[in-house]
Amino acid sequence: MSAKVIDGKAIAAEARHECAVRVERLKARGVVPGLAVVIVGDDPASQVYVRNKAFASEGIGMHSEVHAMSKDTTQQQLLAFVHSLNANRSIHGILVQLPLPRHIDSRAIVAAIDPAKDVDGFHYFNVGALVVGEPAFYPCTPWGVMKMLEHEGVKIEGKHAVVVGRSTIVGKPMALMLLNASATVTVCHSKTPDLGAITRQGDLLVAAVGKPRMIGAAMVNPGAVVIDVGINRLPDGKLAGDVDFEAVSQVASRITPVPGGVGPMTIAMLLANTVKAAEHAAGIGSRAETRIA
Ligand code: NAP
Repeated sequence: MSAKVIDGKAIAAEARHECAVRVERLKARGVVPGLAVVIVGDDPASQVYVRNKAFASEGIGMHSEVHAMSKDTTQQQLLAFVHSLNANRSIHGILVQLPLPRHIDSRAIVAAIDPAKDVDGFHYFNVGALVVGEPAFYPCTPWGVMKMLEHEGVKIEGKHAVVVGRSTIVGKPMALMLLNASATVTVCHSKTPDLGAITRQGDLLVAAVGKPRMIGAAMVNPGAVVIDVGINRLPDGKLAGDVDFEAVSQVASRITPVPGGVGPMTIAMLLANTVKAAEHAAGIGSRAETRIA
């Protein structure tokens, strides 16, 4: 078998186009959606992510602001800045780039963001809404995976989904979204014995681990849909996912590549969440559009 490769770049481009149309609709009403991205310190990877987010926002006609703060910024200063963005009516989405320097409590910062502007979906309010299956801002990476599956017409209801990884930003919300969509979900992590015996049961397998090519063909149920969230930098500078793409392509029915799979969807969902926040603030659209089931 040779798997169909899911083209995340193309699906993300479609999603960005839909956002651009909604931005124009908002502009016609005098509202320009605004995204503020806050970065503290000089982590080079974070700087690249932040630049990409600002670039993508401007690409669909949104207003974007990048606030680069020194690595010595105190927690109080950052909290005060977040509060000022909460009160700023031209800003509809706020994203504080993680990780923050160690002297700052990330949870306290995320909790200070107005949940109505929490376009990363990490605030307790939005996490809780996901748990109970209510409309909310959902974390962009797993939400992007759901949108890809929907675009591909992959049936989720009644299927066995196996998620490898239980982080707050990917694995756990991914598992909840799949559960809300009526999959039977198994979540694996570093303490899971005999991982392959479990991953082989999945009709749908999502890898979000951070270990290059750790999911081999023998760990995959023949015909499964395999979603690779991992982004790992190899010693030669190239990127690899958590899945051994070449080998698993021979077993799976569909598979996402790295790069060009889940990655582009993450930014597209950030834009979609920001447009939604602006629509909500303008009294048009509905947050219910984020409902999964
Ligand atoms: P993370 O916070 O480090 O979590 C990794 C998870 O993998 C943990 O739950 C860990 O288990 C589990 N794990 C580690 N080794 C394992 C093993 N041998 N067997 C089974 N489970 C194992 O990472 P993350 O933030 O979720 O990110 C995961 C990957 O996705 C990374 O490569 C990251 O770069 C990528 N990512 C991509 C995007 C995108 O836009 N495509 C966005 C975010 C992240 P424990 O909980 O037991 O430690």
